[in-house]
Amino acid sequence: MSEIQIHTIPILPFGMVNAFLLTSATGAVLVDTGLPGSERKIEKVLAAAGRSLADLRLIVVTHGHIDHAGCAARLRKITGAPVVLHEADLAYCQGKTPILRPSGFFGRLFKMTGVIERPFPAVEPDILLSGEQTLDLSAYGLAGDILPTPGHTPGSLSVLLEDGAVIAGDLAASGILLGGIAFKGWPKPPPFEEDTLQVARSLKILLSKGAKRFYLGHGGPLDAEVIERYAGKLAQTA
Ligand SMILES: [Zn+2]
Ligand SMILES: [Zn+2]
Repeated sequence: MSEIQIHTIPILPFGMVNAFLLTSATGAVLVDTGLPGSERKIEKVLAAAGRSLADLRLIVVTHGHIDHAGCAARLRKITGAPVVLHEADLAYCQGKTPILRPSGFFGRLFKMTGVIERPFPAVEPDILLSGEQTLDLSAYGLAGDILPTPGHTPGSLSVLLEDGAVIAGDLAASGILLGGIAFKGWPKPPPFEEDTLQVARSLKILLSKGAKRFYLGHGGPLDAEVIERYAGKLAQTA
């Protein structure tokens, strides 16, 4: 299968919030949709890659937080592309307030703003993964798989490509505050994390399956060696 290009979509500038467009000669897949109203930003990156919204063949929602799932309902409607998400995050995608366990000072501060608990248009999935079920992306023109990688939320998904690139949602972050901005080479937890030990386990599973470079929702990307040290530290402190 042909080579895959990873295009970062800046939902917010400086790497604070990223979504990703994956393209190959035969496919275009969107990983995460950003905050509500992000469709223009996504369309711009598609255009730069020589594609349009109508070319999207699949929309992957890595988890049910507003900065990843917020624009999914709208994009499904305007593109007709199927949406895939994991059953364990379905309630978050349909109006249930997420469990927000702050991972540090910024998370506690950020929680007080209420931004991440804001409701967003309910997402109707076309493909609902359950348990440890994976999805082969070759049917969508990409050599890779969607894997359940719980921890940040119970239904968090990652997209692992055959060449070792992985779009890992909020399994890790880097930078300062929300993520990005500065010190992007330094891994850290995102502002919220439901189960730290489970995050460490999921990161190790991705590494064992050949993940080499981690593309993240906030900050990143980070190399496998950095993630390996980080996952080891998480497992010790959790
Ligand atoms: Zn999140
Ligand atoms: Zn996020």
